Amino acid sequence: MYKICVIEGDGIGKEVIPAAITVLKATGLEFDFNYAEAGDEVFEKTGVALPEKTIEAAKNADAVLFGAAGETAADVIVKLRKILDTYANVRPVKSYNGINCLKTGIDYVIVRENTEGLYAGIEAEIADGITTATRVITRSASEKIFKFAFEMAKNRKEEGKSGKVTCAHKANVLKITDGLFKRTFYDVSKGYNLPAEDFYVDAMNMYIISRPETFDVVVTSNLFGDILSDGAAGMVGGLGMAPSGNVGDKYGLFEPIHGSAPDIAGKQIANPTATILAAVMMLRFLNENKIAEMVEKALEEVLELKLTTPDLGGTLSTSQMAEEVSKRLKN
Ligand code: ATP
Ligand code: MG
Repeated sequence: MYKICVIEGDGIGKEVIPAAITVLKATGLEFDFNYAEAGDEVFEKTGVALPEKTIEAAKNADAVLFGAAGETAADVIVKLRKILDTYANVRPVKSYNGINCLKTGIDYVIVRENTEGLYAGIEAEIADGITTATRVITRSASEKIFKFAFEMAKNRKEEGKSGKVTCAHKANVLKITDGLFKRTFYDVSKGYNLPAEDFYVDAMNMYIISRPETFDVVVTSNLFGDILSDGAAGMVGGLGMAPSGNVGDKYGLFEPIHGSAPDIAGKQIANPTATILAAVMMLRFLNENKIAEMVEKALEEVLELKLTTPDLGGTLSTSQMAEEVSKRLKN
């Protein structure tokens, strides 16, 4: 029995999370779903976007499944990632058949450092009209993220993938911070018998477009990971297709990359794929690899048959698409 903290949040979170729950229930696994509030709606009601009760529920769960927070996102999801010390942001990039991807044969993962870099929160106006932001890179946080990336590559190699780890940085300009980042990458790589390479982030940006099929695990710092992964998502069908996981030594929080999409909320046309794939990542985090594989296969079939929401060319509603995936799990 897995204890899952479920946070639907705002907008289409209220549609895509129930869709993913429908699918999880069809796996035959036993879940204890604990629903908790966060986001704009609870903020308007109570003045607090991330209630203490929700933090407790997240800490007491085996994993957290998160939908979206609207205006309050920074006070909800950025804060939750910090509280749960989920130092790795994992963003799979995969081209599925039947989806309008810019290239085929793409299957790699971007691992983004989630705690420091330019997101360290150290900004200042040092004089009128002069502002600064401090980019923090530490050996300890870098070691942690690189070990995480190489462990992931090791597992992927066992599944028949290349197991290559690619580090993206800007050490030619950011000589001290990314100098340390790059050195630490190769230090950590010595502990593994896996291919390791590095590129400047600008070149990397070109390669994820020109030859994305050559990557397996890409690891980078906070802001670079943010930018690279949205471009990468654009290559494989866009926001409705892209899941992510925030993982630390103890906690895991899984969510679609997209936000609350108020323009399409309440219409049952939101694509549930990203959230169902986030649930698949959660199942792997819980070591339910066989079940995760089953769910992904069922979803792949539904995508290929175009039993999808309108954004992917189908005619089904959010919940109907989830039902199609569920049906295939029950058989
Ligand atoms: P937020 O401030 O919560 O991020 P947003 O208005 O920026 O909200 P996003 O959720 O980031 O909206 O998405 C941007 C656009 O992409 C949406 O307006 C919507 O049209 C589209 N979109 C996002 N997610 C989905 C989805 N799951 N299915 C279909 N379209 C989506
Ligand atoms: Mg947005």
